[in-house]
Amino acid sequence: MALIQKIDRSGVEPRTDGARAFLKRADKSMLIGGEWTNGRSARRLESIDPATGQHLATFPQATVGDVNDAVAAARACHEAGAWCSVVPARRAEIMWKIAELLDLHIDELAELETLDQGKPLAVGRWAEIPGAAAQFRYFAGMATKIEGRTITPSIDYQPEGKRVHAYTTKEPVGVVAAITPWNSPLIMYAMKLAPALAAGCSVILKPAEETSLTAIRLGELIVEAGVPAGAVNIVTGLGEEVGAALARHPDVDKVAFTGSTETGRAILDAAKGNLKKVTLELGGKSPVILLNDANLDLAVAGAANAIFFNAGQVCVAGSRLYAQDAIYDYVLDRLAEIGGRMVLGHGLKPETEMGPLVSAQHATRVAAMIKSGLEEGASLRTGGDTFGPLETFISPTLLADVGPDMKVVREEIFGPVLTCASFQDVDEVIDLANASSYGLAASVWTESLSAAHLITSQLRTGTVWINSHLMFDPSLPIGGYKQSGWGRESGQMAVENYLETKTVCAVV
Ligand code: ADP
Repeated sequence: MALIQKIDRSGVEPRTDGARAFLKRADKSMLIGGEWTNGRSARRLESIDPATGQHLATFPQATVGDVNDAVAAARACHEAGAWCSVVPARRAEIMWKIAELLDLHIDELAELETLDQGKPLAVGRWAEIPGAAAQFRYFAGMATKIEGRTITPSIDYQPEGKRVHAYTTKEPVGVVAAITPWNSPLIMYAMKLAPALAAGCSVILKPAEETSLTAIRLGELIVEAGVPAGAVNIVTGLGEEVGAALARHPDVDKVAFTGSTETGRAILDAAKGNLKKVTLELGGKSPVILLNDANLDLAVAGAANAIFFNAGQVCVAGSRLYAQDAIYDYVLDRLAEIGGRMVLGHGLKPETEMGPLVSAQHATRVAAMIKSGLEEGASLRTGGDTFGPLETFISPTLLADVGPDMKVVREEIFGPVLTCASFQDVDEVIDLANASSYGLAASVWTESLSAAHLITSQLRTGTVWINSHLMFDPSLPIGGYKQSGWGRESGQMAVENYLETKTVCAVV
């Protein structure tokens, strides 16, 4: 049984002046064409603290008319060259300034993220907000390195005495809709905005309706950094209304989406009208493979972190554990011990190691998945409890002795629930790991270099970590094989998502 703190409102007031001032302001609004606006209707959505149910703020529920306004503003900015014609070094300076402002406001942003999303303060403060700043710095560096190539073609029918001179140039793809999920809001904004801005695109950011507060605060910092009007627009609202309107809008050139595989499919459908460019970072069911010779102290701690970090609400969470037969019982005992010791509570309390899930609706879904696992014959090694004023807390849960056909093994749970199974040999575990419609990430834990690389080369996933899990860096591409998505974010190649290649072929 995990250590459960009393979940109440005492001691969970933000400490920073910035977060307090932001929450007090009644005018949380959207950024369209450089203006802060409530949009065309009086409709508002409410942000609540998922741990306590406490009201935090309201913000606009945009209409399709607001989406049209934001797209028009982004288009006007693009056509006027207000951002795309800014020299790359200046774009880089402004992006670097965004990173500096993120650093400067890191405590305030971490508090807002915790209140709105639930995560322990340390997750935002030490991992996600520094990670967001790192994205802006990395892609600031890319802004000055966007280059075409010269090409020597082999065409042999040019007129006598002439030759072919050919080259490519890179141009921004244009107006981009960035649609993001609620699990790690700020870093998701950065992973899309930074490469898009480096490339010279104008962007409409649509944060998840569950967690829109830090998008609005980031918008203020982006304006302060000197990003011109219309280059970044922020519209808040419902996915099926605002997100869908962006995905089908004829004047949006590209959609960059992170979220569920089901919503990814809906976005693809909507995007086909004008054949938008689409990148999708979708669900996962990432295996964590422990071989008998693994360094067990590292491997067990790593496996626990892979599933319990951010309460398992991570697309690359290590949610399927495969431990080799000689170590299986030991690993499960140790994991149950770690899960049972974890301190659950409000994210603003310093001792908290795991916060609530993002909403009562999501927690209900996760609890139903645990129930389905037990009904299908999994054995509960620890966890499975739901508690808190909104029933949003779920204790770290281990479902042992699962079979490959169980729903809990096949479907993404997106909560602190680890399915565990043993295996005998390497071929068997490669088959088990690959028996998934997803292919986002995996980790392999072993002291054998050969075994690690042999397994890695056969896993059908976009990332494989060896003796680690959840190591992120702006330089490391991330994305999925199979139904985990299209394309990659982060890394040098990510900027290409926001660029068109123009081929120029001249007879000279
Ligand atoms: P979840 O189901 O976990 O809430 P989603 O994939 O639905 O995750 O949400 C990710 C993002 O996609 C959110 O910003 C949400 O508002 C948006 N969204 C949801 N439905 C649609 C849709 N039909 N079209 C476009 N965006 C959507």
